Amino acid sequence: MAANGFEAGVVAPGADGTRQPDLDRAVPPAVHALIDGLVAAGHAAYVVGGSLRDALLGRLPADWDLATDARPGRLVALFPGAVYENRFGTVAVRREAEVFEVTTFRLEHEYADFRRPHRVEFGSTIEADLARRDFTVNAMAWGRRPGDPANALVDPFGGRGDLATRTLRAVGDPDARFREDALRMVRAVRLAATLGFDVEPATLAAITANASLAGHLSWERIGAELEKLLAAPRPSVGLRLAEETGLLAVISPELAAQRGIPQRKVAGEDLWEHTLRTVDAAPAERPVVRLAALLHDIGKPAVLEGGRFPRHETVGAELAAELLRRLRYPRTAAGEVVHLVRHHMFPVDPGATDAAIRRFIMRIGPDRIDALFALRRADDLGSGMTPDDPDTVAFRERVLRELHAASPLDRHALAVNGRDLMAELGLAPGPRLGHVIDELLDRVIADPGLNERGSLLLLAQGILADMYEDEVSSP
Ligand code: ATP
Ligand code: MG
Repeated sequence: MAANGFEAGVVAPGADGTRQPDLDRAVPPAVHALIDGLVAAGHAAYVVGGSLRDALLGRLPADWDLATDARPGRLVALFPGAVYENRFGTVAVRREAEVFEVTTFRLEHEYADFRRPHRVEFGSTIEADLARRDFTVNAMAWGRRPGDPANALVDPFGGRGDLATRTLRAVGDPDARFREDALRMVRAVRLAATLGFDVEPATLAAITANASLAGHLSWERIGAELEKLLAAPRPSVGLRLAEETGLLAVISPELAAQRGIPQRKVAGEDLWEHTLRTVDAAPAERPVVRLAALLHDIGKPAVLEGGRFPRHETVGAELAAELLRRLRYPRTAAGEVVHLVRHHMFPVDPGATDAAIRRFIMRIGPDRIDALFALRRADDLGSGMTPDDPDTVAFRERVLRELHAASPLDRHALAVNGRDLMAELGLAPGPRLGHVIDELLDRVIADPGLNERGSLLLLAQGILADMYEDEVSSP
């Protein structure tokens, strides 16, 4: 492992700077066949973008993107079943149950509002297509034109050299490129994290100079990049850059406000450092926990009072919900994240009764217990604590035991239901019935032995009698 926590890339230029992994073998047969098919039909065809970059890094690309001078209509004619996806010239070609995106070479014009181009023009050369791409490592191609002897790397901007030194560098003048499309700045910090690359100084300076333009972007596009960033080995690499350049202040002023807020956790580190540590410590394969880690203390700056953060989890849950709504996060996932933020301060009291443990499970929800403990573990690590403190371990074991004991934890597990109560006690549907059921559940959580039809009906009669008494005695 390299010191930065990423595996070293396999791209190591030899003495002549030309050594590279064997792309002939790294590119799968279906992609070879697509290139060969297009060339045989008289077109240039190349593997491009992130897939080529990842292949050169020795990683298996998630998908393979191709670029060609064939127009979309021609592609659909050449590949039966191919689907023209959008006005940007992308055609989806299905091969051996896999879908490949083939995009006609493009030139881009008229970036009117710091976001996508308004008009796309088809181009005729791979070089022009590469020139419109964002970073040098994303602006390489591998393939051939008709007449070329073999597939070869096209690298007009020194992408291979930047891969070898793990550098993210804008294609062309970074200032101009970020003003054309502000999303490139967000992509820069995201790619720095996913790839573990450094951002080249002039590119970084241009992000700092243009950060405010990110305010013109659609929240969906920002949200999509944030999601990818949070799946990085160490998201802090990108989040730190976002904060330093001013991008974070545009995307989430609430999070940016964590910088400089003192914490009594790791000596000399502020709240933002605690957040970064917590996100890195959360499991990369659990996006909900990662996002909750990012947002768990989002409420702290707003409630800071005499060095304390009263009710920050409640305020934080509201701020998190607002931010995720803004980012158009899927509602179910957002709900999970907000729930974790709201409950992340749960105490692990060694003196808790069994009933208290069961109430805790009910409050959190049996399905969310595991995520909440994963968040707690990350939070502890982010606070510089050992993750497996004995009280937490003991509390978690008791919770798991109760979970496995399948004690009744919600009204559906009660031995009587609303219909039984209506039939036996002559109750009508309504708030009174709801109250009786809530009371029954409370007693059963305290003493699961009561969960039996006869006992519950008796208990319910008593509860009803108390209720009538209260109603009569209160004016
Ligand atoms: P990932 O591996 O995470 O998908 P990627 O670089 O492939 O990263 P995509 O969004 O799939 O990201 O984009 C594919 C390619 O399109 C990029 O590699 C880059 O060449 C180009 N590209 C994407 N977005 C932009 C942009 N905003 N400006 C210029 N070129 C872009
Ligand atoms: Mg991609």
